[in-house]
Amino acid sequence: MPLNQLTNADLHSHSSVSDGTLAPEDIAARAQAQGVELWSLTDHDEIGGQQRARDAALALGMDYLTGTEISVSFAGETVHIVGLGFDEDDAALRAGLAATRSGRLERAQRMADGLAQAGIPGAFEGAIKYVGNPDLISRTHFARFLVESGACADTYEVFRRFLTEGKPGYVAHAWARLGDAVRWITQAGGVAVIAHPARYKFSPSAEYALFTEFIAHGGRGVEVMTGSHSTAEQVRYGDTALEFGLLASRGSDFHSPGESRTELGSLPDLPGALTPVWQALAHRVHRATA
Ligand code: AMP
Ligand code: MN
Ligand code: MN
Ligand code: MN
Repeated sequence: MPLNQLTNADLHSHSSVSDGTLAPEDIAARAQAQGVELWSLTDHDEIGGQQRARDAALALGMDYLTGTEISVSFAGETVHIVGLGFDEDDAALRAGLAATRSGRLERAQRMADGLAQAGIPGAFEGAIKYVGNPDLISRTHFARFLVESGACADTYEVFRRFLTEGKPGYVAHAWARLGDAVRWITQAGGVAVIAHPARYKFSPSAEYALFTEFIAHGGRGVEVMTGSHSTAEQVRYGDTALEFGLLASRGSDFHSPGESRTELGSLPDLPGALTPVWQALAHRVHRATA
């Protein structure tokens, strides 16, 4: 497949190796069936699914970029940085991701304590049933339990009522530092991308600080087309990409059939004025055909 502006690239998705529900092979098959031509599995703080994802993609005729989504704490918010096209054997990247994953178990126990005080007992055991990777218990697994137990109608309601700042199941956590996450990715040969920028509750000056510090550390991309952006936000962050000279990315952030609002490979193409991040990463793409 030629790589160009119109390539159906989906460079943000999750498997059961983090908080998705499908195995890497099953997302690969679903992505291919949806017309994705270039795919990346970007599990949270984890690259344990990369080899399976790449092997499955190439067997299906899909090009592949290595991926991950690193949790970062910046100016009092959690920010997600997607890494693409890195060398997955890089020791510093692997150590950084392992350090970022640590502490999730203790956090989950405290989340369960908070939920128990709000009248929802057994949430730790309930969430664990959904966990595919014991190192990666996340809020999403609690959300699935709260839906199953009938406490909420869907995962969006769970986050709104229980799992966001100020709510009973929320526990603040110190994730990776912005500069560290960007360096782990770039020093492993990859490109760092700010994920779903419209999701953060930053003032204009804090958002400006995020972009300028990200770039100063070597970050080069921003998600413009993501399942988290409205049409107006797609336009707004397309303008931001041009203003800061950033590469643009496109990814559904697919987690699960029936849970995710955006299907794999279904977002609009990037506007022609933007430079796709996959163009800068052409030399890092694992090609399905020579
Ligand atoms: P964690 O890394 O444990 O803090 O969990 C974060 C994950 O929860 C994200 O990657 C999303 O999959 C999910 N998530 C976060 N906020 C929301 C929300 N408001 N609605 C639905 N899912 C959310
Ligand atoms: Mn997630
Ligand atoms: Mn994210
Ligand atoms: Mn994600």
